[in-house]
Amino acid sequence: MHTNKFIGLGATALRSNFTRLQLPYKLNFAITMRCQSRCLHCSIWQLKPTGELTIEEIREFAKKNNSFKWVELTGGEPFLRSDIVEIARAFKEESRKLYVLTMPTNSLCSNELVVSRLTEILKLGIPRVVMTLSLDGHREVHDRVRGVPGNFDRVMALARKFTEMKKEYPGFSFLFGYTINKFNEGQLIRTVNEVMKELPGTTANDFHINLAQNSSNYYHNENSQVKAASDDMVAELEQFLKMRRMQMEPMQLVEGAFLKNLLVFAKTGKQPMKSRSLEASLFLDSWGNIYPSIMWDKKIANVREVGFALGKVWSGREAEEVRSAIKRGEEPVQWTSCEAYQSIVGNVGSLL
Ligand code: SF4
Repeated sequence: MHTNKFIGLGATALRSNFTRLQLPYKLNFAITMRCQSRCLHCSIWQLKPTGELTIEEIREFAKKNNSFKWVELTGGEPFLRSDIVEIARAFKEESRKLYVLTMPTNSLCSNELVVSRLTEILKLGIPRVVMTLSLDGHREVHDRVRGVPGNFDRVMALARKFTEMKKEYPGFSFLFGYTINKFNEGQLIRTVNEVMKELPGTTANDFHINLAQNSSNYYHNENSQVKAASDDMVAELEQFLKMRRMQMEPMQLVEGAFLKNLLVFAKTGKQPMKSRSLEASLFLDSWGNIYPSIMWDKKIANVREVGFALGKVWSGREAEEVRSAIKRGEEPVQWTSCEAYQSIVGNVGSLL
C-alpha cells in the first residue's frame, strides 16, 4: 500500500515533465504565521496574525482538493497551532494518495508538546513523515541568529527524542535545516562538526541547506539585507558537498541534485532551472491566499472567495498568466526547497 503511494508520487512527478497536471500534487501551506523565535534573517515573528484559516475551513479545503501526494505544513512555527494533528488528519483522510508530510520546527515549543503531537500524527499512518529541525549555527551562533538563548540545546534535546521515535516509526525521519545567511557566514562546517559530536551517528547527509532569500509575501524581510556574500556561500557549500556521501535513496538523490544546483545559484545568482510553480505546486498562506510560490508575491486568489476549491483557480486566467511569465523567464529568482524539489523531478535530466 505504501509502495503504491510512493510509486504514485513518483509517477505524478515524472508525468509533470510532459503534461500539465489537473491539480498540484504538492501543497506548501503555512498554517500559521505566529512564531516565538526572533530570527535576524526572517521577520515573520514580528507579525501579529489574526483571521487565519480555521480548522473547519482547512477541512473544507482538504475535502475539495484531494489530490495532494505531498503536503508541507510550515509556518511561522506550525506546532503553535493546537489543532496541528487535526490539520494533518484532514489531509490524510481526504487525499487518499498522500505519501509524505513534511514539517519544520524551531524547537521552541516544549519538547513534550512537539513529541506528543507528532506521535499522534505518526499514528495517522501517513507513509512518510519528515521533520526539519531549524539549526542555523553551532551553540553560540544559532542562539544569536535566532535571538533565543538556549535554543541550540533545545534543538539537540528534540533531535535526541526524534532519534528514539525513528526506532518506533519506520516512516519517520528528520533533518537539520540550516539557512546560510549574512549572520552565520562561514559557520556551516563547524556547526556540522559540533552536531556530529553532540549526536554521534549524525552525518552531513542529515543536513538540509538553504540560502537566506528575501520575500514580501512570506519572510516579510524585503527591506533587510539577509544574504551572505556570494564567495563565502560558495566556499561553504563546496566544503559541505565534499562531506556528503552519495546515497541511492530517492529523496537523497533529489537532495543531492538540489544542493548541486544550490551551488550554481550561489555562484551565479541565477535560477538553475525553470520552476514548476503552479504546475506541480502552490503556496497557500495562513489566511487562504494562493501564491505560485513562497517567494513570489503574486496573489492568484483566496480560497475563502472561491468556495475552497482550487479547480477554477488552477485553470483560471491569473494562473495562466503566471505560467506564461515563467515560460518567458520572468518569475522572481528563487531556489528554495519548497519549490526546487518539484522543479528537479519535473526536469528529470537534472537528476543525472
Ligand atoms: S525563520 Fe522560522 S523560526 Fe525564524 S522567524 Fe521565520 S518562521 Fe520564525
